[in-house]
Amino acid sequence: MTIIDGNLISNQIKEEIKESVTKLVNEGKKRPHLAAVLVGMDGASQTYVGHKVKSCEQVGFESTLVTLDENTTEETLISKIHELNNNDAIDGFIVQLPLPKHIDADKILLEIKASKDVDGFHPINFGRMCLNLPAYIPATPMGIMTLIERYKIETKGKHCVVIGRSNIVGRPMSILMSRAGIDSTVTLCHSRTSNLQEECRRADIIIAALGKPNFVTKDMVKPGAVIIDVGITRVEDSSKKSGYRIAGDVDFENVKDLCSYITPVPGGVGPMTVVSLMLNTLQASQNLIYTK
Ligand code: NAD
Repeated sequence: MTIIDGNLISNQIKEEIKESVTKLVNEGKKRPHLAAVLVGMDGASQTYVGHKVKSCEQVGFESTLVTLDENTTEETLISKIHELNNNDAIDGFIVQLPLPKHIDADKILLEIKASKDVDGFHPINFGRMCLNLPAYIPATPMGIMTLIERYKIETKGKHCVVIGRSNIVGRPMSILMSRAGIDSTVTLCHSRTSNLQEECRRADIIIAALGKPNFVTKDMVKPGAVIIDVGITRVEDSSKKSGYRIAGDVDFENVKDLCSYITPVPGGVGPMTVVSLMLNTLQASQNLIYTK
């Protein structure tokens, strides 16, 4: 059994990005510049945005953090987005989700110019991804694909079960795993799937992205399977200074000896998400997906 080390791979990729940035700057080109928009004071969102800003510093990007009040109106947020769309200094930007309840996230994401949508959530990028055209790939699925590639995990002809059908993880994951060249046969499971345990037991690769701690148990895993755990749930834990710990969707302790590869939580998929956003921003700064 191999524990997939997301910290190790993400650090390697950060070094690679840093080298690319140094090269760009030495050639007289501008540093890539990522902006993040944070609306409100959600604790987890603040942490995620903080990681993104810190990663920008680590790889030599410029970053801009736009913080807006919890009560910001949809109109104000949209006008901020238009400002970022038109600001040539910014190569790409993200609007941190979730947004406060009074703001329609789907409407907001449509306002982001596709060429700056480094989260890959805009329908143009999502559609291009489905058609195998150059596109920004959503960061978490992109990070998982990188782990699979760097660990040389066999995907061709394998049966992959994805649990969860969200637009940011499960659904794009199912599309990427079935692409020509990756060639897995994919079953996409969700909360209405009736025979989920049985589907999992047939899987060569399980990608769990549902947000339910310890959901994937030993009896659901075929010996030798590859387990990718995307789940991040804060679970109360009085032994921790913060009062909580982070739990994945897989019962790691009991599953690990059964499988061939497994991602831990934390330290598996999580660090890959941020680094994938950096890769998309690097591509944006070099106009590799869209010409400006
Ligand atoms: P979501 O809530 O949008 O979607 C959850 C999906 O799981 C839904 O499609 C739902 O149908 C499915 N589901 C729920 N209960 C189920 C059940 N009992 N059986 C089968 N399917 C079920 O969540 P999301 O945004 O896709 O995130 C999923 C998890 O991944 C969360 O824990 C989230 O925090 C985590 N996440 C991690 C990263 C990372 O960087 N590692 C990034 C994004 C999300």
